[in-house]
Amino acid sequence: MRPILSAERVQKRFGAFTAVDDVSFDVAEGEFLTFLGPSGCGKTTMLRMIAGFEAVSSGRMLLDGADMSRVPAYRRPVGMVFQNLALFPHMSVFENVAFGLSVERQPRDRIHQRVGQSLELVDLAGYGDRMVHQLSGGQRQRVALARSLVIEPRILLLDEPLGALDLKLRRQLQTELRTLQQRTGTTFIFVTHDQEEAMSMSDRIAVFNAGKIEQIAPPSEVYTRPSSVFVADFVGESNVLKGCSRGGRIEVEALGTALGDPEHRSDGQQVWVSVRGENLRLSPAEDSDVPGCAKVEMLEYAGLHAKAHLSVGQADARLTAIIAPSEAEILSVGSRVRLEVREYVVLTH
Ligand code: ATP
Repeated sequence: MRPILSAERVQKRFGAFTAVDDVSFDVAEGEFLTFLGPSGCGKTTMLRMIAGFEAVSSGRMLLDGADMSRVPAYRRPVGMVFQNLALFPHMSVFENVAFGLSVERQPRDRIHQRVGQSLELVDLAGYGDRMVHQLSGGQRQRVALARSLVIEPRILLLDEPLGALDLKLRRQLQTELRTLQQRTGTTFIFVTHDQEEAMSMSDRIAVFNAGKIEQIAPPSEVYTRPSSVFVADFVGESNVLKGCSRGGRIEVEALGTALGDPEHRSDGQQVWVSVRGENLRLSPAEDSDVPGCAKVEMLEYAGLHAKAHLSVGQADARLTAIIAPSEAEILSVGSRVRLEVREYVVLTH
């Protein structure tokens, strides 16, 4: 099936600075794609190029197979929701949601019907007469969504729309947003720097770093098979350790052991081994100064799990293990533990 959106070798330069560097990806119709990455990595710039607010410096952007380079923002079939929402404070909820349709000079009956449907979709039926300042943060968020969905965009672009909300409301709206996306079947492209948010909502995540996409894959794949040290480090609680290939195995000093190498690299190749916190198993040990052992420096409880911060004297390394609270109870600061690695990924860059 033809993708709804294709970015082909897209680049954006601001003077001598390259904000988006040779980025290519496809988005399938009805997909929830998230751009994830640290501040300044080019996520918003990419989104603004899709919307048409920024011109592409080189490369092409195709929407439904048509090149968008000469199509101005207002003619593109995309909607956008911003972090600051940009609602009109002097207008009622109804007028805010109706705005796009009024600009299109749609008949009044049609506007009433579609605004009603949109408000119902975001659970705000009956709120049409309220002024924006009479709404809670979450309700304003829903008005902004209704306003961008009412024009039935082919793609809805969302730039950190939940960024300003407190954690509980944010989690609630994440679920609502995902449900809304599935119910309407609209293609969503969502920008965030919050990896948990990206994990919980997306069909696929594009991990951005310094203007490039490092990996684009479903959340579970990004998590279990990161393609680079950057992705392993940015997504989830990962221990990224230096290793060296020898005799078809990877010697990892911090773990005091050699791990199997599925790719049987040649001797002497420097690599990194990424071990998720939950893939480190700890068992009591006599000594922490022998290979494969560590000392507990700090214990942190976090509800469903606990974190053990460990030091490995021999390799001068720090590790974090995610363990069950019951396991944490038998440890204390200063405990000596033996390390066992359950799963890991070998990375070359
Ligand atoms: P954040 O999460 O902080 O919003 P981001 O990943 O969305 O970050 P962008 O806003 O896309 O990052 O910015 C990418 C880079 O491009 C930044 O270094 C930024 O300073 C630069 N940049 C963005 N817009 C312009 C502009 N109009 N002129 C010059 N540089 C710009």
